[in-house]
Amino acid sequence: MNIPFIDLKTQFTRLEPEIRKRLDAVLEHGRFIMGPEVAELEKALAAFVGTKHAVSCASGTEALLMPLMAWGIGPGDAVFTTPFTFIATAEVIALLGATPVFVDIDPATYNLDPAKLALAAAAVKAQDPTIYPLPQAALDNKLTPRAVIPVDLFGLPCDADALATIAAENDLLILEDAAQGFGGVYKGRKAGSLGTAGATSFFPAKPLGCFGDGGAVFTDDDTLAGLLESIRVHGKGSAKYDNVRVGLNARLDTMQAAVLLAKLPAFPAELDARDAVAARYAENLSGLPDLTLPTIPNGCRSAWAQYTLASPRRDAIIAALREEGIPSMIYYPKSLHEQTAFVGLGYAPQDFPASPAASANVFSLPMHPYLDAATQDRICAALAKAVR
Ligand SMILES: *Cc1c(COP(=O)(O)O)cnc(C)c1O
Repeated sequence: MNIPFIDLKTQFTRLEPEIRKRLDAVLEHGRFIMGPEVAELEKALAAFVGTKHAVSCASGTEALLMPLMAWGIGPGDAVFTTPFTFIATAEVIALLGATPVFVDIDPATYNLDPAKLALAAAAVKAQDPTIYPLPQAALDNKLTPRAVIPVDLFGLPCDADALATIAAENDLLILEDAAQGFGGVYKGRKAGSLGTAGATSFFPAKPLGCFGDGGAVFTDDDTLAGLLESIRVHGKGSAKYDNVRVGLNARLDTMQAAVLLAKLPAFPAELDARDAVAARYAENLSGLPDLTLPTIPNGCRSAWAQYTLASPRRDAIIAALREEGIPSMIYYPKSLHEQTAFVGLGYAPQDFPASPAASANVFSLPMHPYLDAATQDRICAALAKAVR
């Protein structure tokens, strides 16, 4: 039997009655846009994350875009982020005409390195690329450092305390990209609540997924929450056809809110199950040659969006796993500063050495809450055979 990389079918089977009941209710009341499930979900999400507000939206990408719009970020602004992430994290910066300024990762956690953020901010202010590599736009014009988008990569929360210190010193807003981190914990605080605002995604394969696209923004800031609610519905003012700013159509479908309401109660137990799967991997794979296991710093809990290993023999390992019918994925094969979409930034490949080194070595194994021990042991045995 083929092993799925992520098993959404088993989850559906377990939660089917509740999901169908919730979807039926929407079919009955027919309020497909901004129906009562949307507000109900937002309340439940805010309670889960521990923020004052949760503003749902149509995708994780829009959850990243909307706070930047609300903050008026645009041409002449520098927004710092990691080159080792999904394209959406940096795409939203470029979409608004602002300049993505990349900051390399900590090779142990794959998350943005706060010490390098301090250097990058200093380099932008001094227009001096000898302090830290800069994009061409930061040399042509003196950019204003406005925000940083740290990512909770593979489910591990970003280094929030260190980032907060450097952000405060440089007057930066923090937009936490918790698309993969939702469910994770940093020193008792939930992922999504670690910045000025946090963005998450409910894409089906994320830790908490719906049956299509969806996302949410978390914040304690009342003003920001109000702006987000306006931006997601075409910049609405007090009435529907009163448009006070340029916005988007970025609402979460009522159907998707219904699916998430059915899934959310099971989510804490699913996070425990993910922890158990990760622990079993660690137990079975530690000590194997040429294999680096995930690092979870003290005080952190990962949401285990991915279980990601690194090996200099990565490509041979992947091929050997495939022979045994075991799927694996590479997140991410190419750093963003090397992507065609960002050649205009004028970065050189060696500007951020840790990110391409990770791209060359990482691979992710099947990870989901319903991975049974026997299947996992099969995966581990195949991997052990491949590296010995
Ligand atoms: C998935 C993801 C996004 C985008 O979310 P969508 O819902 O697909 O738009 C953004 N950032 C990261 C790190 C992601 O993994």
